[in-house]
Amino acid sequence: MQFLSTRGGDRVGIDQALQRGLAADGGLYVPERFPSLAPDAFADDLDLAAVSTRLLGAFFDESVLAPALPSICAAALDFPVPLIALADRNDYLLELFHGPSGAFKDVGARFLAEALSRLRHPDQPPVTVLAATSGDTGSAVAAAFHRRPGFRVAVLFPDGRVSARQAHLLSCFGDNVESYRVAGSFDDCQAMVKAAFADRELQRRRPLTSANSISIGRLLPQMGYYALAALQYWREHASPLNFIIPTGNLGNGLAALYARRIGLPIGAIQFATNANQVLAEFLASGDYRPRANITTLANAMDVGAPSNLERLCALLPGLPQSDPTISAAAVTDTAIAARLRFFHQQQGRVICPHTATAAELLARTRAAGDQRGWCVVATAHPAKFEAVVEPLIGATVPIPPTLVPWLARPAQSIALAATADALRDRLSQGA
Ligand SMILES: *Cc1c(COP(=O)(O)O)cnc(C)c1O
Repeated sequence: MQFLSTRGGDRVGIDQALQRGLAADGGLYVPERFPSLAPDAFADDLDLAAVSTRLLGAFFDESVLAPALPSICAAALDFPVPLIALADRNDYLLELFHGPSGAFKDVGARFLAEALSRLRHPDQPPVTVLAATSGDTGSAVAAAFHRRPGFRVAVLFPDGRVSARQAHLLSCFGDNVESYRVAGSFDDCQAMVKAAFADRELQRRRPLTSANSISIGRLLPQMGYYALAALQYWREHASPLNFIIPTGNLGNGLAALYARRIGLPIGAIQFATNANQVLAEFLASGDYRPRANITTLANAMDVGAPSNLERLCALLPGLPQSDPTISAAAVTDTAIAARLRFFHQQQGRVICPHTATAAELLARTRAAGDQRGWCVVATAHPAKFEAVVEPLIGATVPIPPTLVPWLARPAQSIALAATADALRDRLSQGA
């Protein structure tokens, strides 16, 4: 299997696509075709690693990693992704936050780390994984590459614009991980990272690689949890499961569409966004109007120009008319807060503000009389967003055991001005 750039000017195997991140022509890598697998093909696959190994096989058929795929999946995908039946019949919650950093991004980051480790030649100089983060990406990437031989990690986050606990999680790793708190916005962090990747002189001294959400190596393994949940529902109900997915850059959502294309029993898909409503507008009218993002309670989804939209349009040309089973709607901060509180009262479960956008769309869907099986995707543990969540529910959220050891470590980050020069100087010092 080869991978094509969405812009048409690049075609490579998966190994190169994993190492490059972005295609040579600036586009995003997409599979040139999709394998076809019926639910029966997964009859013997009972956990996430087994389902993922089977799903990913065709994408890695020409890769040097093909024989290692089962062990990559076993090592990376070793935590539960439970599908929980809610109090109302036919409502489900898919919890994706039981990995080491408490968010779904652990799945992609850990898979990518296992794959890149095996692609690395032992004689190569260490490579620095450079990641700008608005919150969750940085800690998932840092956890995945922490103490991994041959890799260093540099994480940039906007100082004062992530939750206190997120900031601690981004700064607690030490060893081969450095955290930079940038005096600027997430957009500034991204611009600094872009400038570093464009700086050949810097890269000669300090080889860099990317692990951001446009990497196909993060996207593909995310199909696994949709497949596992849909198969579980299929075996019980003999009908497809429909999903509501909290969405920012569309990486998580696209994985559901990819799994459906392969033949998994996935029905309709709704994307829930916060007040950044570019995607909802696009799927309602076909007009794409990217713009600066606004800050919301669901900060990991504060995206004004979803980077994976190119992949969505490559997969489904002619949207929105071409596929009425896909939709998106925006949820305001007021509705997020009300839903989070009500969900807690009604279900006795605490959800994070991102998950609350999807729970709100589920409530609207039920109010409209839809009786099908719907699954809300829970993208992060609520304890990561304690400052938003705790006042709303009037209780403290216990820290999950996965996060306890990290939060017990001291936090240490380096202050950086929001300029490309500041980052270049810092990275050169450490080279
Ligand atoms: C990253 C993130 C999202 C958005 O995921 P995309 O793949 O960018 O759509 C949603 N919720 C949480 C908690 C996240 O960390």
